[in-house]
Amino acid sequence: MKKIKVKAYAKINLSLDVLGKREDGYHEISTIMQSIDLADILGFEKSDTIEILCDNPKVPVGEDNLIVKVINLLKEKYQKKEGILVRLNKKIPLAAGLAGGSADAAATIVALDKLWNLNMSKEEKKEIALKVGADVPFCLEGGTKLAKGIGEIFENLKVPSMSLLLVKPDIEISTKEIYDKWDRLNFKSHHATFLVAQAIQEGNIYKIAENIKNDLELVTSRECEVINQIKEELLKKGALGCAMSGSGPTVYGIFDDLERLKRAYEDLKEVYSFVFFSKTIDKGLELYE
Ligand code: ATP
Repeated sequence: MKKIKVKAYAKINLSLDVLGKREDGYHEISTIMQSIDLADILGFEKSDTIEILCDNPKVPVGEDNLIVKVINLLKEKYQKKEGILVRLNKKIPLAAGLAGGSADAAATIVALDKLWNLNMSKEEKKEIALKVGADVPFCLEGGTKLAKGIGEIFENLKVPSMSLLLVKPDIEISTKEIYDKWDRLNFKSHHATFLVAQAIQEGNIYKIAENIKNDLELVTSRECEVINQIKEELLKKGALGCAMSGSGPTVYGIFDDLERLKRAYEDLKEVYSFVFFSKTIDKGLELYE
């Protein structure tokens, strides 16, 4: 095999409780992560050098790219001399709280496992994933998961299919800065994860929508008033519930009425730079040969 294509799906957080800071600097969280139908497309081709060709000039293509981090970790671990050419068709907005970079990193692990015949076990893939970032292990598996620790200890959940409207205001957020401010501001967690997990187990989309909540919203919305504005607009336009994803700034609403969702989409796309109609899906990656 010389080439492989991977579709790498974004995620949203149906809940995010920040429980404390660990000695290694990471935060202990309890969160429900959900794959959604919004994906980057990555083409991998065997090559002598490492090169990333991306259609979005804002994406770093050197050592800072999580794809390059994965390539270098795998080269070192498996003593590989060759490089790889990656064509990255970027559809997931950057620094949006949707784990775009992490999804690309997960795609790189599975692609190189195949192209370089590494025969990696599930544990070996997860180990590399965790070295690259806290969201990468989730992106390898995808679906709906209750995640604990720094986001790497999973319990599988099965969510009823839900239609979503994503709205991202034209600002980019640094995850690290938001967590640093969380620590300084001494906020208390809402502990929403338990309630959302219960609603998911009952298969009740109304109860899910009523309970979705993200602790980090307290920090991000302090600086970006637009987060609360988008939430109000989504609710006014018929969303059953809404919340911010990750450290933001993307906000999503859950809808049970497609006509209302379409109207909300038409109205909001006049105002915000990224408005996307999506749905929940049960996988994180899709491979094509
Ligand atoms: P998370 O939800 O996991 O916190 P995010 O969606 O908020 O992540 P990303 O889109 O992953 O954020 O990007 C954050 C920064 O990481 C970008 O601004 C960019 O500089 C850098 N980056 C590194 N690799 C990638 C990649 N493959 N795609 C996009 N950004 C990348």
